[in-house]
Amino acid sequence: MIGGRGQGSGSGRGLGKGGGRGRMGGFGLGPGGFCVCPNCGEKVKHVQGTPCNAMKCPKCGTVMTRG
Ligand SMILES: [Zn+2]
Repeated sequence: MIGGRGQGSGSGRGLGKGGGRGRMGGFGLGPGGFCVCPNCGEKVKHVQGTPCNAMKCPKCGTVMTRG
């Protein structure tokens, strides 16, 4: 089936370009940031004006929490 978002089927976040983990994110330092799924760890860009707990994880449907 043709899925939506890329081939990331693993537990995301991983050994990637290691190093800079000091400041949150790295790109888009604006209001918002990301919401994180406490269940599977999926990150979704936070939409300003919409609280994370009003969003659901696109993968597992769990209510997102603020990352
Ligand atoms: Zn999830």
